[in-house]
Amino acid sequence: MLELHDVTVRYGQHRALEGASVHVAKGEIVVILGANGAGKSTLLKAASGICEGVVEGSVRLDGTDLTRLAPNKIVDEGLALVPEGRGVFADLTVRENLTLGAYSARARHEEQVTLDRVYSLFPKLRERARQIVRTMSGGEQQMVAIGRAMMSNPTILTLDEPSLGLSPLLSKELFHNLAKVRDLGIGVLMVEQNAKQSLGIADRGYLIENAHVVHEDTADNLMKDPAVQAAYLGAG
Ligand code: ATP
Repeated sequence: MLELHDVTVRYGQHRALEGASVHVAKGEIVVILGANGAGKSTLLKAASGICEGVVEGSVRLDGTDLTRLAPNKIVDEGLALVPEGRGVFADLTVRENLTLGAYSARARHEEQVTLDRVYSLFPKLRERARQIVRTMSGGEQQMVAIGRAMMSNPTILTLDEPSLGLSPLLSKELFHNLAKVRDLGIGVLMVEQNAKQSLGIADRGYLIENAHVVHEDTADNLMKDPAVQAAYLGAG
């Protein structure tokens, strides 16, 4: 279980996040919705230890305090991030990208086992193992990014706007793949603009407005909520 408790982040005088508490259990998908600049990316970065701001509050994973750990130690504890824009190495092959994902101590010793697990999750990555990532479609590159994060053998996978730039059809495939990750017993926490498709596969969700978590509910209830429909689902 990943637990962010009362997390506040300041960039200079600006409070990007205030008193945010969010949790994700293994085997569930949780979506964070909110307008541009609400503080969503900041929350994911604070959890992963890569936030440039001053972070207060606590982040725990299965009881271990991650708050003051270096980013690579946080990956060692089992928390992986797929950043916005994917962060793949475009000039390297699929296989090389996956190998680079296994640098953490928790993954290094079992690289072959983990690689087989990632290949069985995403068979296309095995077929394309020697392809240079730059030559792949956006959807395929996103699969490489998720595969690379999975190579660190995480218990919780976090993703910042994974469907950005993908067609509706490719987004559907992406969310289907994230459901497969959840079905392995991994917790998935994602920030998404595509509220409809992400809530469609999610278990729960949070709304962030102006640096505050203002609402938490099951995905089903959020989809039925008139305020959510008006703000995020294009109804109203
Ligand atoms: P978007 O959907 O546009 O990505 P977001 O909800 O992810 O938005 P954040 O990226 O978390 O928003 O940013 C929250 C606020 O903090 C914004 O006002 C942003 O300008 C500010 N901010 C983010 N990163 C920094 C930084 N490194 N230095 C200063 N201010 C920052």
